[in-house]
Amino acid sequence: MKRTIKKISCPSLAKSLCFLLFGCALAQAHHSHASEPPKFAIAIHGGAGTIEKSSMTAEQERAYRAKLEEAINTGYVILEKGGSSLDAVVASINVMEDSPLFNAGKGAVYTYDGTHELDASIMDGRNREAGAVAGVKRIANPINLARMVMEDSPFVMLAGEGAEAFARSRGMPVVDNNSFDTEHRREQLKRAKEKLDRENRQDKDYRAAVDALPAPFRMGTVGAVALDQQGNLAAGTSTGGMTAKRYGRIGDSPVIGAGTFADNKSCAVSATGHGEYFIRYNVAADICSRVAYQNKTVAQAADEVINQILLPVGGTGGVIVLDAKGNIALTFNTVGMYRGSRVAGGAAEVAIFGKK
Ligand code: ASP
Repeated sequence: MKRTIKKISCPSLAKSLCFLLFGCALAQAHHSHASEPPKFAIAIHGGAGTIEKSSMTAEQERAYRAKLEEAINTGYVILEKGGSSLDAVVASINVMEDSPLFNAGKGAVYTYDGTHELDASIMDGRNREAGAVAGVKRIANPINLARMVMEDSPFVMLAGEGAEAFARSRGMPVVDNNSFDTEHRREQLKRAKEKLDRENRQDKDYRAAVDALPAPFRMGTVGAVALDQQGNLAAGTSTGGMTAKRYGRIGDSPVIGAGTFADNKSCAVSATGHGEYFIRYNVAADICSRVAYQNKTVAQAADEVINQILLPVGGTGGVIVLDAKGNIALTFNTVGMYRGSRVAGGAAEVAIFGKK
């Protein structure tokens, strides 16, 4: 299954025809925008998986589309005003973390034991600075703490209580773990546990058990990649991890190179999917290495890693990828992926299912 959406600027043949037919001035006025690479761009995801139109009500679909659009536009406005890609990534992710629709922040899934453990990371494409937090239980917006680790500590990753103590020391308020409780995630845990216990496979194959749940119950790790007007890339990812995960389990989302990567010289990536595979296959960094060393386009590199390498070994999920020219790939090997993008001067484009 190959699903890649690639943004390309106005084909030069079409432009030449415009010139011939209507003259330079008109053609330029009309096409100057489309023929130039976008000066800034943003792409987001809200999780990948067996997301089918038939398993969602029209109202649920509308709610997801509206929230995705809000997240894109929140980041876009920052970029439009000349703000940094880091600010745009954090702002877009905050919109999704604050919504119960996504498996991050407010809507974080439950561990097998009924608690919430959140992971997040961020990377600055200018200098490969990065920050990450893993297994935090009391941080409302883990992406903000990841950024704080990057900017205000000599470390890249802080975990658990140490990360929360660091947050408190920097004046970031902590919240109760039960502030992440939601009815739909509790129901999801119940159903996942029933399935896991029945099949006696708590420690293995639980992704398959979770995949058997209805679409809105499963997915929703969130992520964003952005290119600002200064030409800098950034990437960020935030998640509650996987439903019914063993406590202490850390996925790919806070692992730089696996779930998140950004380097102005290659690309910015945020991933979603079965984290163990994304870690072992170093997915985000591998995509950017192909762009850097093999001159692959972001669409080619993402397709190779997601569809040709990950899928055959059973790794399901997807990525959003953006390069410093504004080329975007939204690539996944699952049935659907909550996703969207917006390039300078264009409108927000949002999609959920395979086709749209
Ligand atoms: N990648 C996340 C994890 O493994 C989950 C997901 O994206 O659905 O924790």
